[in-house]
Amino acid sequence: ALPDAEEFDVVVVGGGPAGSTLAALVALRGHRVLVLEKEHFPRHQIGESLLPATVHGVCRLTGVADELAAAGFPRKRGGTFRWGANPEPWTFAFAVSPRMSGPTSYAYQVERSRFDDILLKHARRVGAEVREGCAVLDVVADDERVRGVRYTDADGHERRALAAFVVDASGNGSRIHQRVGGTRVYSDFFRSLALYGYFEGGKRLPAPNSGNILSVAFDSGWFWYIPLSATLTSVGAVVRRELADKIRGDRHRALLALIDECPLISEYLSDARRVTTGPYGELRVRKDYSYHHTTFSRPGMVLVGDAACFVDPVFSSGVHLATYGALLAARSLNSVFAGTVDEPRALREFEARYRREYGVFYEFLLSFYEMHHDEDSYFWRAKKVTRADRPELESFVELIGGVSSGEQVLTDADAVAARLRAGSAEFADAVDAVAGSTDGSMVPLFTSSVVREVMREGGQVQMRALLGEDAEPEAPLSEGGLVPTADGMLWHDPGVPPAPT
Ligand code: FAD
Repeated sequence: ALPDAEEFDVVVVGGGPAGSTLAALVALRGHRVLVLEKEHFPRHQIGESLLPATVHGVCRLTGVADELAAAGFPRKRGGTFRWGANPEPWTFAFAVSPRMSGPTSYAYQVERSRFDDILLKHARRVGAEVREGCAVLDVVADDERVRGVRYTDADGHERRALAAFVVDASGNGSRIHQRVGGTRVYSDFFRSLALYGYFEGGKRLPAPNSGNILSVAFDSGWFWYIPLSATLTSVGAVVRRELADKIRGDRHRALLALIDECPLISEYLSDARRVTTGPYGELRVRKDYSYHHTTFSRPGMVLVGDAACFVDPVFSSGVHLATYGALLAARSLNSVFAGTVDEPRALREFEARYRREYGVFYEFLLSFYEMHHDEDSYFWRAKKVTRADRPELESFVELIGGVSSGEQVLTDADAVAARLRAGSAEFADAVDAVAGSTDGSMVPLFTSSVVREVMREGGQVQMRALLGEDAEPEAPLSEGGLVPTADGMLWHDPGVPPAPT
């Protein structure tokens, strides 16, 4: 042991959504967790459009969901797309029917500086030791395993912290991810660049969709338009790699030129002015963000969030992958600490499930972009679907809303629990019905069995968070695989009765 080193059960590198979620879920089990975050929060980050599974599922498990609900973030009921050759925007809702606005059928659009700060403070409140202004330099490792980290503390002194596990949650700019072994592999397909900034006074979609993300394709790529408050809007142009010249040079002029290319965004910004001061005053560029690491773990170390993988900004999967990956990793670490599953098996389960989730989004987004160039495309079909009497996509999301409805569980737990259980079966049937339809209106996403499984699992994560012990048992991902315990906090072997923990 190093004489000057402190000891913890887990050292988490990075206090973004991945790091703070993992820290909270492990600290809640009574383990000693140190989070080292190089910045002082609040700090800027992109990734403002969230998914219901994050805010009602994972954040319910960590215990921060109510605080998020009280924070006043705009509610995102779904997405509005203007895409491909079809001139008309089309909308999907997590809960399609305005009559059926289930209590968990929405997500939030968040200022990440605030959202990440709430999550990090929450991790601290539930027992993690959080140190800001501490930059990790490297891991401490021997031939057998990773044993801790070296870091610079807020006073500039170099220190060491030892732990049974080091979790790299330090995002896209991680400097230690390669210490897990393997390499970061960049996607050949997703190679766009993003230029983004913030506007005051932009228009809003008509109610009740004013909190939706608006995604608008145009010749050079597509725009996101995310309402962050009644008046503040995040606006980003995602430009194809071969058109990278369009965002070189003066960024303000480049962004205005791209906006000019895109009539719908021009119209929405016609009365708006770009924010030029404060944290939102800068125009920022992001590139090389689509990759996955070839391995997510080694003995004593795991990667979660952008340190491990990220696909593409479309469909707001980043924070979902980060927080869901953190949940999977936390279960593995908690199980090893509880002595119920050995480390190789626990890490295998984490990696298998995380890779599958990543793979689903990758597969989904490939077809999304393919269709972008083809009028007879996903988007055209999805548009057609949303116009039909009982459109597949709307049915699908309506049922997702049904599964996730249930904030009332807090006031009428039994009735809502029963409703959720009924919803679960209906949901599974509907997913199969959608996937089994063979007419031309079928959405390609749902032809993938892996996507169907994950959609079911996503519903279960939310149900589990709401129902706790009452949730139905899950099936393992593969033969001999592990399943979450009823409270969602550990893995257990479905062939073995759960040991008391
Ligand atoms: P981060 O949020 O990056 O947090 C990592 C933390 O680690 C940071 O706070 C950093 O300061 C800290 N850190 C870094 N190095 C060190 C070190 N050496 N020592 C200590 N701390 C360190 N996702 C969505 O869900 N919705 C969206 O709409 C969306 N839009 C996007 C648009 C673009 C253009 C891009 C590129 C991404 C987008 N994303 C979106 C993805 C989203 O930004 C990320 O997936 C998400 O922020 C990942 O969270 P994280 O916790 O893994 O990492």
